[in-house]
Amino acid sequence: MSEKTLEVPVKGMDCAECVAHVQHAIAALPGVQSVEVFLSSEKAVLRLDPARVSITQIRAAVASAGYSVPEPAETTSTEAMSAGFTRSILSLFGVVFGAILLIVIAGEGLGLFESITTSIPAPLGYLLVLIAAYPTFLNVLRAAMKRQVISHTLMSIGVIAALVVGQWVTAAIVVFFMRMGDYAERFTTERSRRALKNLTAMAPQTARIERNGQEYEVPIAELQIGETVIIRPGEKIPVDGEVIAGQATINQATITGESMPVETGVGSKVFAATFAELGSLRVRATHVGADTTFGKVIRLVEEAEAHRADVQRIADKFSAYFLPVVAFIALLTFLISRNPLSTAAVLVVACSCSLALATPIAMLASIGAAAKIGLLIKGGKYIEALARADVVLIDKTGTLTLGRPELTDVITLNGVPENEILALAASAERYSEHPLAEAVRTEARRRNIALYEPQAFEAVPGFGVRAQINGSSISVGSRRLLTQPLAVSVDLEAQGKTALFVQKDGEVVGVMGASDTVRSEIPQAIAALRKLGIKEISILTGDNERVASALAQKLGVNYRANLLPEDKIAIVKEYQAQGHIVVMVGDGVNDAPALAQSNVGIAMGAAGTDVALEAAHVALMREDWMLVPEAFHIARRTMRVVKTNIAFTAIYNLLGLTLAAFGILPPILAAAAQSLPDLGILANSSRLLRHR
Ligand code: ADP
Ligand code: MG
Repeated sequence: MSEKTLEVPVKGMDCAECVAHVQHAIAALPGVQSVEVFLSSEKAVLRLDPARVSITQIRAAVASAGYSVPEPAETTSTEAMSAGFTRSILSLFGVVFGAILLIVIAGEGLGLFESITTSIPAPLGYLLVLIAAYPTFLNVLRAAMKRQVISHTLMSIGVIAALVVGQWVTAAIVVFFMRMGDYAERFTTERSRRALKNLTAMAPQTARIERNGQEYEVPIAELQIGETVIIRPGEKIPVDGEVIAGQATINQATITGESMPVETGVGSKVFAATFAELGSLRVRATHVGADTTFGKVIRLVEEAEAHRADVQRIADKFSAYFLPVVAFIALLTFLISRNPLSTAAVLVVACSCSLALATPIAMLASIGAAAKIGLLIKGGKYIEALARADVVLIDKTGTLTLGRPELTDVITLNGVPENEILALAASAERYSEHPLAEAVRTEARRRNIALYEPQAFEAVPGFGVRAQINGSSISVGSRRLLTQPLAVSVDLEAQGKTALFVQKDGEVVGVMGASDTVRSEIPQAIAALRKLGIKEISILTGDNERVASALAQKLGVNYRANLLPEDKIAIVKEYQAQGHIVVMVGDGVNDAPALAQSNVGIAMGAAGTDVALEAAHVALMREDWMLVPEAFHIARRTMRVVKTNIAFTAIYNLLGLTLAAFGILPPILAAAAQSLPDLGILANSSRLLRHR
């Protein structure tokens, strides 16, 4: 059976409930394995068997749920526009009508209310209410035909109840506030949608390329990998690539959140959506379109909604029970008090909308604010885990250290010349991405040593590399890679250096020493983590015991040395089995599986490295360790806001229900009260948009 991923746009969703409706409708189709629906990016992502389900069926399923999948070019069709136009006219009508009535009600004390009720003929009043409520009634009716209850179902019953007992002014006011509630909700979702659109809008649309000595301007979609792209001063870079000529000062704030420009020259990596402030460049494209770091960031932010926090799941479940409970209370109120107005008040005062909004709005605000400072959080789930985490595990090479080790020693054994050892080692490391491999190659280049082309190459994660060179098998790596015990003792490790053993056909011919600098902000970052109350901080490294213990002691943390990538996973699992919430910080080299296993995997320097960006849950787009404690701060702040949002809505609804049931809250005030929590949540959550 074949399976593929399909993305379809979905229009018309403006509340959290809509997501569940669309999700159910699509999931019910045969051939659909899984579906995730995103409110903020207005799309559904499906895993499906293309042989069993077609786009037409999906479109029909979405339509039957009351939403639509636009035809590829339909989005701006006049039909859609006029439908939108009609809707906004009706909405406007509702607002104006309501506003007028509000003024009237304000004058109730002056007796104006009475005179209006008597001066406007009742049939006209009824008609006005029905026109204003039409869009809502339509939605409720559509849902009802599919045996669904939406948040406005009960309110609509409340409106009808008020009309039946002749209180048309009351009904009008309820409708007014119901429409206002809709606006508040649409406003909040629009806002998060716009944040996404702003992000996407930063992606360049065209590129200037050179083909056969000629310059052309082409749309991004037509770009090919390997092509030469020309960037002039002040222009946005359209691709991820390597500089082949020129020099420029580049502002990478779009990716890293860091506005200090960086100098680039031949050999530097550049990223799409960053721009050249000064200087021109010729760049060879290595990634284009959606495959660029920026393209991936956009996709990850869009899909952050899929990783819902547990609190959100609880709130969603709660919403499902909310409506039946309210209906029951309304029934009870009616049976006991026989007062249709109290009953109507109960029906209109409670709205599960705010509850559904409480978590995602705060999460979206935080994810957006964090992205701006170069901290990419892939979903609410990770914010929640970060806020509760109590163990931080740190990879050493490339994470604690700069990951740009330098080769300090080359020791020959068995009389093989130094440069020959380096030549063999650098050739074996030719295709390795490990920072140590880079150190070996750099030293060989510095000494102008020509490299051999390996016939075979194999990376042994956590050990080193093995290669076939000129008919010999060469291995370079840690002591554990040795096939024979080493006769000579080496004291490189006592100096805190990483020893790399070079073995040729089973015989150790040399040892090289490499040392790496610890990132300067580490002590400060660790102090900040301690201040946050993180008790267990430990270094996990594949390096030797001596190097690890010296470093751990200096930083005042624990360590585990001589670890293989699978040992790192096992340690993460060990902590988790003891009930700890584990944050693992790594660089994606040899530690990607451990990052994925931890509750929150944080990847350093994720700009430009695929593994780190994919495997981690939080990616640091800029190499700054202070972003780690910052991530904890953001998470804790977010959870505080989420909790106040939920508590506020729950208490508010409870209070409203009680007052309404006892007839203290008249329907008019109940309706007004109903739209307030949305605004409260919006205001409370928008605090998260402001950074520090
Ligand atoms: P860390 O856990 O500190 O990030 P790794 O797991 O990446 O370290 O590597 C562990 C050890 O394996 C290194 O200290 C080194 O001795 C050896 N090693 C791994 N990859 C290579 C390589 N490409 N070349 C040489 N040695 C390597
Ligand atoms: Mg590493």
